[in-house]
Amino acid sequence: MNSNPNNSTLGKQIGLTCCPTCNKVTCAESACCSRCDTKLTIRDYASLQKSWALLITAAILLIPANLYPITTLTNQGKVTQDTIFSGIAHLVKTDMIPIAIILFTASILVPLLKIIGLTIYLTAISFKLPISKKNLMIGFHIIEWIGRWSMLDLFVISLTVAVVNMGQLLDAKPAPAATAFALVILLTQLAAKVIDTRLLWDRLESKNDSRTNT
Ligand SMILES: [Zn+2]
Repeated sequence: MNSNPNNSTLGKQIGLTCCPTCNKVTCAESACCSRCDTKLTIRDYASLQKSWALLITAAILLIPANLYPITTLTNQGKVTQDTIFSGIAHLVKTDMIPIAIILFTASILVPLLKIIGLTIYLTAISFKLPISKKNLMIGFHIIEWIGRWSMLDLFVISLTVAVVNMGQLLDAKPAPAATAFALVILLTQLAAKVIDTRLLWDRLESKNDSRTNT
């Protein structure tokens, strides 16, 4: 083992690979993992294309998710439809600022930050952008951290619908944008999940990178 981190050897260089399912370190020449039979690859370069495709679809779906109504409210026979923005504006007007902040964070800020973060992350790996090691790692941790909060919005929507329905005066139902929004959350989660993270570690280990980071 080499104690100098700047001189460390990659498993790829000595013909070793790690099973993506059970983490068993195996000789890269084996086609399948001897423990769990998962197909082995030294690096999954196709994962970048899959991630780009999912991310671009999520970014496109973000448009109908924000333009079309997300909820249909029936109040004593009167039907009103709210988009994410009008819903937040309505909450601000009715002095429900804390819920408006949670809704804004979960519905607009988190998906947008995740899409921007993933775009930077994928661009850095795909086009070898001169982003420093430190910034790339910060970005990676931010995406991981944001990912944990992605389900917050579904929680907020279900809670709001439950509270509103309890009053018996209103009947809240999801409108077309709800499907688009749920897909945005799902696709960004998948886009982050499918990337072969070893490609990022390769990028961090590259000589080109160490020159830009000293
Ligand atoms: Zn395995």
